[in-house]
Amino acid sequence: TTHHRVLIAGGGTAGLSVASALLRRHPDLDVSVIEPSTDHYYQPGWTLVGGGDMPQQHTRRAQADVMPEGAEWIRDSVARLEPDSNQVVVAGGTTHSYDVLVVALGLQLNWDAIDGLVETLGRNGVTSNYHYDHAPYTHELASTLAGGRALFTQPAMPIKCAGAPQKALYLTADTLRRRGVNATLEFYNQGASMFGVPVYARELDKVIAGYGATPYFGHDLIAVDGDRGQAVFATAEGDITRDFDMLHVVPPQSAPDVIRNSPLAGAAGWVSVDRHRLAHTTYDNVFGLGDCTDTPNAKTMAAVRRQVPTVVDGVLNKLDMGKAAPLYDGYGACPLTVEHGRVLLAEFRYDQEVVSSFPLDPRQPRRLHWLFKRHIFPMMYWQMMLHGHDWRRPHPRPLPELTQ
Ligand code: FAD
Repeated sequence: TTHHRVLIAGGGTAGLSVASALLRRHPDLDVSVIEPSTDHYYQPGWTLVGGGDMPQQHTRRAQADVMPEGAEWIRDSVARLEPDSNQVVVAGGTTHSYDVLVVALGLQLNWDAIDGLVETLGRNGVTSNYHYDHAPYTHELASTLAGGRALFTQPAMPIKCAGAPQKALYLTADTLRRRGVNATLEFYNQGASMFGVPVYARELDKVIAGYGATPYFGHDLIAVDGDRGQAVFATAEGDITRDFDMLHVVPPQSAPDVIRNSPLAGAAGWVSVDRHRLAHTTYDNVFGLGDCTDTPNAKTMAAVRRQVPTVVDGVLNKLDMGKAAPLYDGYGACPLTVEHGRVLLAEFRYDQEVVSSFPLDPRQPRRLHWLFKRHIFPMMYWQMMLHGHDWRRPHPRPLPELTQ
C-alpha cells in the first residue's frame, strides 16, 4: 500500500484543475493523480471540430505535458473505491491509501447501449461529436451531403453539455445552407423540450425552426443499421424506423461503473455530494466534482471551473491547512453555436436561475460570444484552469425577469 495525503481519481478537466490549484497554493503538498489516458482532451472543442471551425489536434495534448509539476501521476485506472478503509485499488493491483480523496472520474459514454452503433460509427454516414476520432467526420458529411435526410439524436438526461446534440445540428444546417444544399433535417430528442431552462428553450425553438428542421420529442434512439441507412427510435407509441443519409448520434450516458458499484454512489449511481460544499454526504474526507457527481447542475467545464475553488479549500480545510471554502452555487454555462460565427451563451445556476456574466441580454446570439468560444475559452482552459489559476470573475448577476 502506498499512502498519499491527497489522492485524485481521474486526471481530466476537474482532476487536473484541482491538482494544479492545490499545488499552486502548497507546492510541497503530496498530491497524486490516478489517470490511465496518455492524452488529455479539451472536449468543448469537439463541437467546433464537428463544424469544421477548429482543427482536431487543437483539442488534444499529451497527458505528460499537462500533468501539473509536483503531482505524482499514477498511470493506471481505478478498479475499486473503498472509502471505509480510505483506500483505492487500481487495475494493476496496487492499493493506494489517502487522507483525502477527490473523485473526478467524469461520466461514462455507453456506445454499446445502441444496437449496431459501434459497428458503423465513423462510416455509412454515422458520426458523433462526442468522440475525438469521429468529430471530423461530422464536418466531412456536412461538406459532402448532396441532400436527403440528416438526423440528430439526444439521449436521456443527464448528459455532459446538454446543448451539444443540437449544436451539431445547427452547425451542419448552416454548412448545408451556405453550400446551397436542401436536406431534410430532424432532431430526435428523448426529452420533452429543447433545453432545461425555459427562457433558453424558447429561443432555441426559434433557432431550430429558422433552419426548417423538425424537432421530435420523446424519441429515443435504440438501434442503427449503417448498411441500410436506418435508425430505430423507441416512442410512447412503439418503435419507429427512419431512413437517413447522415446520422449524428449522442450516446446514452451514466455514472462510471466503478462509482456505481462503490459505497460512494447515491441512488442513481453518481457520487453523492452536498450540492454546495461538494463534500461526500457520508465520508467527510471525500470530495467529488465534475461530471461524476449527483449535483443538479449542467455537466459542463464551466461548472467545473466554479467548483474547483470549493473543493480546493474544502480539501485544505480537511488537512487543517485552510480557511472556510466558498460555496458552489450551481453555476453552469452552455455556449450554443447557433451558426458559424454566432453563439447564444446560456448561463444559469441551481433551480434554473438565469444569470449573466456580461451586461448583455443572454437570449441574443452574438459574434462576441463566438470569439470567446472559439479563441478565449480554449486559451483560458490550457493557460489558466489547468495551471490552477482561480478565475471566478466576472461574477454572474441574477436576471430574475428571465427566470421562471
Ligand atoms: P473529464 O474531463 O471527462 O475527465 C474524466 C477523466 O477520468 C478522464 O481523463 C478519464 O480518462 C478518467 N477516467 C475515467 N475512468 C477512470 C478510471 N477508472 N480510473 C482513473 N481515471 C479514469 N463544457 C462546457 O463548459 N462548454 C462546452 O461548450 C462543452 N461542450 C462539450 C461538447 C462535447 C462534445 C463534450 C463531449 C463535452 C462538452 N463539455 C462542455 C463538457 C465538458 O467537457 C465536461 O463537463 C468536462 O470535461 C468535465 O470534466 P471532468 O473532469 O468531470 O470529466
